[in-house]
Amino acid sequence: MHKHFWGTFHYRKILSNLSAKSFQSYIWYIGNTHKLALLLDYDGTLAPIAPHPDLAIIPAETKNVLQRLSNLSDCYIAIVSGRNVNNVKQMVDIEGITYAGNHGLEILHPDGTKFVHPMPTEFHDKVGELMRQLQEKVCRDGAWVENKGALLTFHFRETPIHLRAGLEKQAVTLIEAAGFLAAHAHCAIEARPPVQWNKGRASIYILRTAFGVDWSERIRIIYVGDDATDEDAMQALKGMAATFRVTSSDITKTAAERRLPSTDSVLTMLKWVERHLSRRKPSMDPGRIPRRNSSQLAKQPIQMSVSIVQASPSMTDRPHSANSLSPNHPN
Ligand SMILES: [Mg+2]
Repeated sequence: MHKHFWGTFHYRKILSNLSAKSFQSYIWYIGNTHKLALLLDYDGTLAPIAPHPDLAIIPAETKNVLQRLSNLSDCYIAIVSGRNVNNVKQMVDIEGITYAGNHGLEILHPDGTKFVHPMPTEFHDKVGELMRQLQEKVCRDGAWVENKGALLTFHFRETPIHLRAGLEKQAVTLIEAAGFLAAHAHCAIEARPPVQWNKGRASIYILRTAFGVDWSERIRIIYVGDDATDEDAMQALKGMAATFRVTSSDITKTAAERRLPSTDSVLTMLKWVERHLSRRKPSMDPGRIPRRNSSQLAKQPIQMSVSIVQASPSMTDRPHSANSLSPNHPN
C-alpha cells in the first residue's frame, strides 16, 4: 500500500535521515481516520536560519504546501515560535491557522481570540530596563538585542567567534541579575520572564483548546523543531506525537523520535503528509492503526497550572481563557 510515497529517487536523496521505509511508520501512525495536528517551529524548521531574523524567509514551496494543508478539514496547523506572535504570523502569512509566539506566551487562535500568559506586572518595566542594560553593555562587535515584547533576545551571530563567549557570559549575568531566565538558542541568548511556560506547555494548551480534554485520543500529532526550546515540546508530547528534531548532527541530544537533516527534508515530509491526507479515504482504514505507547501517558494528568517562579502579588493580563488554566487541571 502507498508504494508511491517512497518510490522516487528524489525523496530518497533528500531524506538521508528519514528513509522512505521509516516514513511508512508515520503514515501508519497518521492512519486514515484521525485528524492530524501539525505543530511546527518556524526558524530553522520551515525557514532556513539567516544572519538576521528578518531574512529568514519561508521558501515559497513550503508555504504553498502549508497553505494547501491548512485548507484540508482534517489537518490542524500551529506554528510554535520564539518570535513575537505578530511577527511570526507576518512571516508565515497563512490565515486560518494557530500562531504561538514568544514560545507560547502569546497564542493567536484561528478564530481571532488571543491567549496571553499572565505576567507579573513588575516584569513589564523590567524588560525595558534590561533592554537598556544589554544595549549599553554588550551590544558591540555585531551583537544586538531584539525586543520581542514579553522577552528579549540577545543575538551574537554576527559577532566574531573569538569574542562570542565573553559577550555571551556577560549577557547571561545581566539577564539573571535582572531576574529573568537566560535560555541559550542558536547564537543567541533569550531573556525570558520567570514563568513556567514553554513550547511544551504551550503545545498541550493549544491541542487542548482545539480538540478538548481527550485530545490525545482524538488526533494524531506531528511536532517538528530545530532548537533546544523545541525539546520542551518533544518531552511534553513524548509517546503522544511523532516528533522530529531538525539537525544535521547525529550527536545532538534530543527527545525527538527522529532527526531531519534540514529545512528541505521538513518540506519533503510535509509533502508526504499532504499526499497521504489528500488521498486517504476512511474506507481504506485497515483498522489496525498502531496504538503507540500513548494510552497510558495520555491518561496521566498534565500540569496546566500557571505558576510564576517568583510569585508576585500583582498579576495582570489574565488570559482570555483563564478558566482552562485552573491549577492542576487534569489532562
Ligand atoms: Mg527554530
